[in-house]
Amino acid sequence: MRTAIYPGSFDPVTNGHLDVIQRGTKLFDRIVVAVAANDTKQPLFTRDERKQMVGRAVRHLPTVEVDAFDGLLVDYVERRGAQAVIRGLRAVSDFEFEFQLALMNRKLNERIETIFMMPKDTYTFLSSRIVKEIASLGGDVSAFVPAHVRAALLSKYKIKVT
Ligand code: ADP
Repeated sequence: MRTAIYPGSFDPVTNGHLDVIQRGTKLFDRIVVAVAANDTKQPLFTRDERKQMVGRAVRHLPTVEVDAFDGLLVDYVERRGAQAVIRGLRAVSDFEFEFQLALMNRKLNERIETIFMMPKDTYTFLSSRIVKEIASLGGDVSAFVPAHVRAALLSKYKIKVT
């Protein structure tokens, strides 16, 4: 049984994340999407809200599970009996941080491999941050997130749907 953990803030989950998850299902028997507490990033959605939104977005994928975690990622990976960590790589801007993170995780636990996945090209410009910014200004994010995430964004920002 090959299990990969896909960790992240998912604040909120976007079509870019979902594209990475979908690709991952072809490589692994099981994928655990692990929603990080990440209090330093001051998320817009609570961890439960983020977890719920991911859960709804992947419910058609039987090999994908959603969980929440805090503490060290490598400890969580061990606890879940996983072999790999999946991270998404969008552009050069992601590379330096992701490279540092992957090598640090390897230092902490040599057994765990990090797998980088590239999304479909149309999602390479997509980030949770930019989706929040557009939604907060009343812009249409329906091409970037599932419908229930769009609804959650509108209600957070108290924007009326017309
Ligand atoms: P974090 O706070 O850990 O960066 P994110 O939720 O922003 O969490 O992202 C989780 C992972 O998904 C990261 O590896 C990030 O690079 C990747 N990711 C985010 N958006 C996209 C996207 N549009 N396409 C591919 N990967 C993405």
